[in-house]
Amino acid sequence: MTLSAPDPGLVDKLVVANRILYGRGVVDGFGHVSARHDKSPGHFLLARNLAPGLVRRDDIMVFDLDAVALDGAGRRVYLERFIHGEIYRARPDVQAIVHSHSPSVIPFGVTRYPLRPVFHASGFLGEGAALFEIREVAADTDMLISTGALGAALARTLGSRSAVLMRGHGSTIVGVSLEQVVYRAIYAEVNAKLQIQAISLGEVTYLNEQEAAYAASANDTQLARNWELWQREIGPVE
Ligand code: MN
Repeated sequence: MTLSAPDPGLVDKLVVANRILYGRGVVDGFGHVSARHDKSPGHFLLARNLAPGLVRRDDIMVFDLDAVALDGAGRRVYLERFIHGEIYRARPDVQAIVHSHSPSVIPFGVTRYPLRPVFHASGFLGEGAALFEIREVAADTDMLISTGALGAALARTLGSRSAVLMRGHGSTIVGVSLEQVVYRAIYAEVNAKLQIQAISLGEVTYLNEQEAAYAASANDTQLARNWELWQREIGPVE
């Protein structure tokens, strides 16, 4: 059985997602975003080894859940592609994933200070972010999720949540669509910055679990508004 080509609209949207995340400072030369293949839940789309801000349609490749490229053709692939394969394997509900080193989130991964929603836009953090400690599953490493075993361990730590912080490294955020996961990755960074500012002023009142859940549902009906704006900012993609 041969795998059908992905919807060109999904490929375009993945290119746009790469550019938006770069434009918004969530990714720089590092970091990546993927989408589950629309014709095969056992495959996903991810760019070749390239800075997200430079990704074009032709750079999007198809991988199986073992993170093996179907159309490698000698192209270099991301070292941490296992993050995507193992989360798609563990979470059938997940349709898109962002892995980044977005800077304001890093302090929460190294202090065990919980990342919590300080405002309505980050209601998706209501369940809190999981915290992945790579030392619990491996000896001293370069901190990268460069094997299937490490990817599977990260997916186990993520559990049913929307975000997992990776101590001394970055974070991985999941969603049901590219629009939702890009929104979440951008607002995780915004929330982290605001939370640090709030903590520095004094005692913080966070959204409670119910407020966070209501806010997250409301925001999910408004994703197109931000996406349209962010897409306009980056201009046409190739
Ligand atoms: Mn990384």
